[in-house]
Amino acid sequence: MPYESVIGLEVHAQLLTESKIFCGCSTRFGASPNQHTCPVCLGLPGVLPVLNKKVVDFALRAALATHCTVAPTSRWARKNYFYPDLPKGYQISMYELPIAEHGYVEVADQGQAKKVRLTRIHMEEDAGKSIHDAEAGASLVDLNRTGVPLLEIVSEPDIRSAAEAGHYLRSLRALLQYIEVCDGNMEEGSLRCDANVSIRPQGSAELCTRTEIKNLNSFRAVEKAIEHEIQRQSEVVETGDRVVQETRLWDADREVTRPMRSKEFAHDYRYFPDPDLLPLVVDQAWVEHVRAELPELPAARRARFIHDYGLPAYDAEVLTARKDVADYFEASVRACPAAPKVVSNWVMDSVLRFVKEEKLDTALKIETWPCSPEHLGMLIGLIQDGTISTTIAKTVYEEMRQTGHPPEEIIEAKGLRQVSDTDTLQAAITEVLTANPDKVEAYRGGKEKLLGFFVGQVMRATQGKANPQMVNTLLRQKLSQ
Ligand code: ADP
Ligand code: MG
Ligand code: ZN
Repeated sequence: MPYESVIGLEVHAQLLTESKIFCGCSTRFGASPNQHTCPVCLGLPGVLPVLNKKVVDFALRAALATHCTVAPTSRWARKNYFYPDLPKGYQISMYELPIAEHGYVEVADQGQAKKVRLTRIHMEEDAGKSIHDAEAGASLVDLNRTGVPLLEIVSEPDIRSAAEAGHYLRSLRALLQYIEVCDGNMEEGSLRCDANVSIRPQGSAELCTRTEIKNLNSFRAVEKAIEHEIQRQSEVVETGDRVVQETRLWDADREVTRPMRSKEFAHDYRYFPDPDLLPLVVDQAWVEHVRAELPELPAARRARFIHDYGLPAYDAEVLTARKDVADYFEASVRACPAAPKVVSNWVMDSVLRFVKEEKLDTALKIETWPCSPEHLGMLIGLIQDGTISTTIAKTVYEEMRQTGHPPEEIIEAKGLRQVSDTDTLQAAITEVLTANPDKVEAYRGGKEKLLGFFVGQVMRATQGKANPQMVNTLLRQKLSQ
């Protein structure tokens, strides 16, 4: 029987606030253990939490960017469990009254757009970190992360494949980066994801028993783990067994999921409203204030790139996947407004390849790129006006990337200006034809493919600087004489 997979993701996004959610401690990463703590986030008796307004601003930004309905009143809840890195014995979260519900994320996939619905978004505090492998025979606890604000973003089970889960997560990450609430770094844990997976007979509308996979700390892990889990569940069902509801851990080294805890040991968190915090009231004025300050979002920007610059949907999708890349593209176009598609090609080829090679995968600032967008625009302008050929431009670009110098300076210093002078080109052509009398005869006898050979020879003789269109035209003339 053919099966379809049903996937819902729970995403935790660490918010880019300066201070923690209920105290004034710094959220900065990389401090020595337990440096960023105080009686509030250490959970000492007798202290009271005070809500960081910025966290609510960020939650509202995310809620509006994902088309959620904002609750006028939401409530903080205690999620109770014991763990050494949770000193209070409970995590402050939201439960039956979250701040936002019923939204969606537009997932772009090769020009096709699909909406993945969101069940809810709520705020909560992060727990600390247990370190089990630093000291023999001991586990250490670092509470710097305790109380760092998180958004939990829960999707409906709308996702139908591992690849689609990847697309959804990338779209969501791009959105969070656009609105500048999260840096989106999965490897460092500022964006975390649990995947809920089940399978069902194709065409069925029923939700079957699911498993939840944890420990997914890269896009690759998310996709691989879901793929693997779908396969595993299919095999279970094929052999006549039933899928057991449980939490499984992804083992990235062995590329398998392993059971962690089953339903019998499922947590009962004994949620109840936190008596230390008032219900959160968000009025319409607050919502509108946040809405007015939202930047242009990826979907709108994608549409604008297609409409204003005449780009193919694919280009618009690639360029807007990251805000910094989209900004870079637009700054380049400003320096070369006549050829947006050529600029797009260059940004997708050269700039993005460079980003990949240098692993500049996250939160990159355009200002720190060695080749400025203005310089790239100028370079493309120089191709357009015939000053240099595309081939030479590649050489110039490499130099720009390494030195940060403007293209004209490099072209002058290295004498790379394109040769478009007819006499010079004629001379080079004559030389090449004289040196290859047999090939000239073959060409004239009908072997027209040899034109490419002649062009290549002329380009070589001019160190790649000859204007290729002119060489083509002049060669054809000369050979037909
Ligand atoms: P819990 O709080 O136990 O994790 P939720 O109802 O909040 O349960 O669901 C968590 C996630 O699981 C959501 O993203 C939801 O879309 C997804 N989900 C629920 N049922 C299924 C199912 N049968 N198959 C796949 N995913 C599911
Ligand atoms: Mg869950
Ligand atoms: Zn603190």
